[in-house]
Amino acid sequence: MKKTVWSNRYDENTIDFEDSQVLSETIRLYDSTIEIQAIPKSGWSGTTPVMYVIMLTGLLVASFSAFSVSKMIGATRELRDKYEEIQENQSHINYLANHDPLTDLYNRRKFIEDIDERLLWNKKGSLVLMDLDDFKNINDSLGHVYGDKVIAHVATLIKKGMIDYGSVYRIDGDEFLILLENSTDPEAILQIIRDLNDSIEKNSTIDEIDNHITMSAGIVRHPLDGNIVEDLLMKLDIAMNDAKKSGKNQYKFFLDSMMVDFDEKVRIEKMLRKAYEERKFTLVYQPIVETKTGKIASFEALLRIKDRSLSPAEFIPVAEETGLINKIGKRVIEEVLMQQKLFSEKGFAIKPIAVNLSPRQLLDEDLAEFIRQKLNEYQASPKWLSFEITESVLLDHKEETLKMMNKIRKLGISIALDDFGTGYSSLNYLSFIPADIIKLDKSLKDRFMSSDNKEVVEGIITIAHALQLSVVAEGVETEEELKWLKEKKCDYLQGYFFSKPEEPAVIETIYNKICSY
Ligand code: C2E
Ligand code: CA
Ligand code: CA
Repeated sequence: MKKTVWSNRYDENTIDFEDSQVLSETIRLYDSTIEIQAIPKSGWSGTTPVMYVIMLTGLLVASFSAFSVSKMIGATRELRDKYEEIQENQSHINYLANHDPLTDLYNRRKFIEDIDERLLWNKKGSLVLMDLDDFKNINDSLGHVYGDKVIAHVATLIKKGMIDYGSVYRIDGDEFLILLENSTDPEAILQIIRDLNDSIEKNSTIDEIDNHITMSAGIVRHPLDGNIVEDLLMKLDIAMNDAKKSGKNQYKFFLDSMMVDFDEKVRIEKMLRKAYEERKFTLVYQPIVETKTGKIASFEALLRIKDRSLSPAEFIPVAEETGLINKIGKRVIEEVLMQQKLFSEKGFAIKPIAVNLSPRQLLDEDLAEFIRQKLNEYQASPKWLSFEITESVLLDHKEETLKMMNKIRKLGISIALDDFGTGYSSLNYLSFIPADIIKLDKSLKDRFMSSDNKEVVEGIITIAHALQLSVVAEGVETEEELKWLKEKKCDYLQGYFFSKPEEPAVIETIYNKICSY
């Protein structure tokens, strides 16, 4: 038998007892066992039954208290487990709320929180918005799953590259934001971005596919460029836009002058919406003359806004950027068909009217169906219309663009490649683009007429003819130009020498005239 030494803490004397002499009560609760033991101070001898009952009662009361305490401990433990579970869930929820699941980077929400905090304390720093160049091409040609891989891959590289400089956030599709915590020196910032871009360009192989990944960047500094988040984000977008406009792989700091351009754009956009609503768009028509005969072969419809001197060169890019061009462009097509109907009712033998289509319109999937419906509605022949498309449409979204061009041609409508000779011109395009006509840009003709390389234009015309394409020269202003182009066998001529773009009433007076030269 076990022997316990019981000591009386109120008493100096220590008395030894056998365990069998101890009155005990065991309480089992949850994962603990509590044992309460009692023994009279001076042993059992001399204990009266009353004392015995008192002791037993005391023991029971003590047991009950112990029971309650232990129950409380249990309940507390249960609460603590629950609390831990909640905390775990909470941190998971926090994680999700602050992170982007694809890249594991911080997200836009976290960015707002972080930058707000910095602005509040008036801390200095810079924000770099980075955007993959031509990401849409990767997505379109290799699929979204691969596109996601590219994003995750680039995210890892950015995170690694920025580890010493600040935090990285994925704020949208292929847009990343870098918060450079201490850098405001432009040269230092540019160096950081250059290094980052180098590492991305060098590590562009993903799943054994060699990509050529580059990024463009817009940069703002705080509080220099602003101390309100929305303001900084807007300026970042503006700087990014500017970078993208200057080509790929460009980095631009926000400048106040960009803001002026931006305000101007906002003003033009408002005006365009108003003009659309109030039906203030009108069309003027410029004759295109057949070189051999001097007869007007067709017209080009050019857009104007009533009571405004703003030229399409100023408002079309805004319409294009804001997507308004789709609505406006459809109205132009309808207006031209309406005009043709009027001409035909007046007894004119209808000549085609060329309508300019912006790149964005060719991505509008209902465009071909819209044209088909309108041809029906106006009982128009597809020969009443033709379209002019600038060659720059082939730079992005080549597949979709070619598809739409083919759909349009299937309707029986011819297509001219506009502005040939500006920037991207490649004779290579001519061999596969579904077009019937090429329009030599005024600048091309100007450049070569006044140089020793006059044969270039002749060469282009010869190649076009070999590919069964007719050639129109734009912007013919003088008799000298006319003679030269005639000699070079240019098929059609258009320009102020013959006529400015005119309203229908004027066009009616020259419809069947022959230009003599
Ligand atoms: P574009 O298609 O190259 O149109 C030719 C532009 O050259 C027209 O300017 C025309 O007025 C001008 N022009 C014609 N002959 C001469 C000339 O002998 N000398 C000079 N210096 N210029 C001449 P406009 O009407 O200001 O149009 C500018 C551009 O706006 C057009 O260039 C076209 O890209 C776009 N645009 C015009 N109307 C529309 C439209 O309805 N839809 C779309 N998407 N774009 C349009
Ligand atoms: Ca044109
Ligand atoms: Ca043109």
